[in-house]
Amino acid sequence: MMTEKKHVIVIGAGPAGSVVAALLQNKGHQVTIIERDKFPRFSIGESLLPQCMAFIEQAGMLDAVQAAGFQLKTGAAFIHKDKHSEFVFSDKFTAGFDSTFQVQRDKFDALLADEAQRMGVEIRWQQQVVDADFSAEKPLLTIKGSDKTYQIEAEFVLDASGFGRVLPRLLNLEKPSDFPCRQSLFTHIEDRIDCSQYDRNKIRIIVHPEQRDVWYWLIPFSNGRCSLGVVAEPDFIQSQGDDQEQVFRQLVAQEPSLAELLKNAVFDTRVNTIKGYSADVTTLYGDGYALLGNAGEFLDPVFSSGVTIAMKSASLAADILDKQLNQQTVDWQQDFVIPLQKGVETFRTFVTAWYEGSLQDVVFYDQQQDNIKAMICSILAGYVWDEKNPYVKNSKPRLKTLAELCREP
Ligand code: FAD
Repeated sequence: MMTEKKHVIVIGAGPAGSVVAALLQNKGHQVTIIERDKFPRFSIGESLLPQCMAFIEQAGMLDAVQAAGFQLKTGAAFIHKDKHSEFVFSDKFTAGFDSTFQVQRDKFDALLADEAQRMGVEIRWQQQVVDADFSAEKPLLTIKGSDKTYQIEAEFVLDASGFGRVLPRLLNLEKPSDFPCRQSLFTHIEDRIDCSQYDRNKIRIIVHPEQRDVWYWLIPFSNGRCSLGVVAEPDFIQSQGDDQEQVFRQLVAQEPSLAELLKNAVFDTRVNTIKGYSADVTTLYGDGYALLGNAGEFLDPVFSSGVTIAMKSASLAADILDKQLNQQTVDWQQDFVIPLQKGVETFRTFVTAWYEGSLQDVVFYDQQQDNIKAMICSILAGYVWDEKNPYVKNSKPRLKTLAELCREP
């Protein structure tokens, strides 16, 4: 079998892959991305957080993203029965971008990949990494294209394969997530919303009227369409019936504000489902490789943290790998895993508290002090690496105390 030699190989051209490739290419390294699909292709994860704009800017892609005509996102609206609570990102505690976009991921991912290519990154489309060997001095990947299977020997491999989880599977690094198995049903609709109070600049997170651990997302796009999804434990979804399309419509009908808002909507796209998406690994790096974004850990969709974490991991990995390739001594644990995990842990605390109900008590509390709300708003905007924010530095005890205060009569 033919063996090519390459400098840095990135597996996958999702947000983590394109951003890390661009960052490294701009630092003078030759990067090749191996991508299984042909873009544009559908992907879930359409609501971005302001924090990720900083990584897009770092990668030199900000102008292209801002010019693409995506729906502006300036905050989040939470709804439970008659309660309505809004967080406006410009009120946040942490300095930095205070808006972002809601994006159709087929278009967004293609745009990031195009930008990476424009910077000199080579992308090999419809090529799948099927095997990986890290036992020799240099990593060896086996790649299956449409007409041939071949090998690439690289200096370093960055796995940004998302839910493909290439190296966790091939190197036996999979570890079950601490979160219970949850399932999501979702689709795109032509929303035809004519309510004057409806703000297209905000994602809506709506709690089911009876089941507090069941929630819906409504993510508006700039073209009169929305992404609409529901998240629940699989037993709850199964209890609603067998026909996925019908179950989805039924669940939407169960939430009065959503049913009213979407009364004229056209459901013109097949309902999709994904189950058991939370995932973890035993290690985020090893000799010759590191795992980025969803190829490492994935928590939960509720706070739209996936793309932001993916890009943060890309940003950290690009810095450290640049040093390593320039023969400097590096410490992946100290400079990659620990800083990345700091923010992931903050999101984990918030996700856990959401499903337990305590974060919902905080979110819907209507007498919140402005300074506290600003700190919570920062987390919702993705600024989970700002240790000046007490809800980052001591997220668990802080959030517990706050939830108790919010629950007091
Ligand atoms: P991906 O975007 O998954 O990209 C990986 C790429 O690798 C793909 O293009 C794939 O084709 C390629 N690949 C896979 N296997 C191979 C292989 N063997 N060889 C070569 N290439 C390969 N995140 C948000 O930020 N906002 C949200 O609103 C949001 N909502 C979500 C809702 C749900 C229900 C779920 C499950 C997730 C949601 N997420 C959200 C998370 C988001 O989808 C991911 O975190 C994000 O896409 C991760 O980016 P990535 O670059 O790590 O991987």
